Amino acid sequence: MNITDGDASKRMWGERRAWMVHTQLEARGIHHAGVLAAMGTVPREAFVPRDVEERAYADMPLPIGWAATISQPYVVAHMSELAAVEPGDRVLEVGTGSGYQAAVLRELGAEVYSIESVPALADRARLRLEALGYDGIHVRAGDGTLGWPEAAPFAAIVVTAAPTEIPPALRDQLADGGRMVIPVGPLHIQELLVVTRRGDALQTRAIEAVAFVPMRPPMAS
Ligand code: SAH
Repeated sequence: MNITDGDASKRMWGERRAWMVHTQLEARGIHHAGVLAAMGTVPREAFVPRDVEERAYADMPLPIGWAATISQPYVVAHMSELAAVEPGDRVLEVGTGSGYQAAVLRELGAEVYSIESVPALADRARLRLEALGYDGIHVRAGDGTLGWPEAAPFAAIVVTAAPTEIPPALRDQLADGGRMVIPVGPLHIQELLVVTRRGDALQTRAIEAVAFVPMRPPMAS
């Protein structure tokens, strides 16, 4: 039997992905079957720059240029689990970065709206997601603190850059019963919060300490 390089490489990445799901996610208490399946499906190696490809499934964030990072796999899985996404949900992501978290949310059946402040990152993520065959993910360059009013309200909002306060527009664009997963705090260390809307009231639950890149004003293209 002939195995081409392509098949061997596909198999190697598939094995690394399965190992990541087992040792970094299941072993640390990620239970959500949909999240485990999504993390076992999205080819993380296609979302990282070539020079760090070898570490695609390592237990760490990786640099993707423009002072941005693709989050550690566990953090992506945990935030996706906390967002409690159901198929058909409209979900907003702030901080597209590589597009990896957006792809995971799409695998969970969400219609994804993702905003990135660096136009070059937004363009690359859009092209990458298209090349991988993802539809149902809308990427635009802009200021994520303003949300995406035309597509609101959102059943879930996943914020992957850290503001020092919850942006009011994001709060306003959360549907009744909707969940916002957001790191809030100063540079280097923030608290991951889950904010749930119940009518006009918001309930906030603190989850754990995290370190995200800071929320910043949009960059000119
Ligand atoms: N979710 C990404 C990782 C994002 S890193 C992934 O899966 O790869 C955080 C991203 O937020 C960076 O790309 C950064 O440029 C972006 N960002 C920072 N401030 C922002 C803002 N105000 N609006 C939108 N995106 C922002």
